[in-house]
Amino acid sequence: MDLFKKLQIGDTDLGKYQKVGHGYYTFPKLEGEINPIMKFQGNDVLVWSLNNYLGLANHPEVRKADADAAAKYGMAYPMGARMMSGQTVFHEELEQKLADFVGKERGYLLNYGYQGIVSIIDAVLNRNDVIVYDSDSHASILDGCRLHMGKRFVYKHNDMSSLEKQLQHATKFAETTGGGILVITEGVFGMEGDLGNLKGITDLKDRFDFRLLVDDAHGFGTMGKTGAGTGEHFGVQDKVDLYFSTFAKSMAGIGAFVAAETYVIDYLQYTMRSQIFAKSLPMPMVIGALKRLELLKTKPELREKLWNVVNTLQNGLKAKGFDLGVSESPVTPVFFNGNVAMVTNIMKDLRSNYKIFCSAVIYPVIPKGKIMLRIIPTADHTIEHVERTIKAFSEVAEKLANGIYTADEVTAAN
Ligand code: PMP
Repeated sequence: MDLFKKLQIGDTDLGKYQKVGHGYYTFPKLEGEINPIMKFQGNDVLVWSLNNYLGLANHPEVRKADADAAAKYGMAYPMGARMMSGQTVFHEELEQKLADFVGKERGYLLNYGYQGIVSIIDAVLNRNDVIVYDSDSHASILDGCRLHMGKRFVYKHNDMSSLEKQLQHATKFAETTGGGILVITEGVFGMEGDLGNLKGITDLKDRFDFRLLVDDAHGFGTMGKTGAGTGEHFGVQDKVDLYFSTFAKSMAGIGAFVAAETYVIDYLQYTMRSQIFAKSLPMPMVIGALKRLELLKTKPELREKLWNVVNTLQNGLKAKGFDLGVSESPVTPVFFNGNVAMVTNIMKDLRSNYKIFCSAVIYPVIPKGKIMLRIIPTADHTIEHVERTIKAFSEVAEKLANGIYTADEVTAAN
């Protein structure tokens, strides 16, 4: 049997959807500078999928810092992995500033959040250790857990009695192997916008012996009094042992970091395979991130603008009777009842007729029979964008209720 036979997805479900959906529902091309209004298939659309919470992507100082660093150093410098020939004072400065900001002793840069998380988990644990992780964790956490050669226990999403039960199992197991326990959660859950119960989790530290890793991809820059994240929001940052965030959201860049006590970072520097065997972040990313961090820290008005848009959007949708689930963050899921065919038709109506671009999520990410449209506001969106969206969603909900989106099979997008 040819190994590649299964890669010919032709008339499988995946193949069918790829054929009709590629370039429209999946792999869409949004063109122009990052902005609430971008071009999609030649039309101006209002985009709610920008990964730019604070509007830093196009801030003139950020664009200048990125461009100046690229002009001065190019994209190749520094040359190799951090350990070999990839260390600079700028990398060290950024790490220290990030650590200071999130209240930790030291930080370490990661080239991508995804690889970073996988690699942190891989480096911190050996086969005698045990992972206890939230069932709704991001794929990068799940993939890190898959690398782990020892035992892992999953607790029901944000359910503290389930976590307690799994910690009992984990404790028993770790006693037999002589290992330790790592609990992993997201700070803000990126799909539904609810907050990891960091207060509940850290309270359990009084009764169980474990370390805590928080993936705060969506919380860094958006949550907490100073924007230092979900640990700051709950007042428990000192009990977060490994604080992680990507630069892909509030920092509107690429890369990530982990922050912890000095001895932990010392160890990670010499053991994290994603950083030892991969080239260091290039200078424009690092110098650009320094500028982003400076603005994030010194311009609280950006966070205020973001939250003003978030509150207007979420309150407006709730007032119209929409189900926003359990979001307590800028991530704004809007739930409907429906199936794949319906969500496809809704997306087409939104993108082509209402000229509104947001992402859709279906089973198995959320329960069967539910559709979720995910709106992610930024400080660059306006109240007018919000009003336009609420109006469009109200019309879509009415059409859905009237059976307009019911279709037996997905029709090709044009
Ligand atoms: N963790 C979470 C919760 C995420 O949403 C993402 C996606 N950005 C990542 C990790 C991975 O980060 P990156 O895009 O930097 O690889």
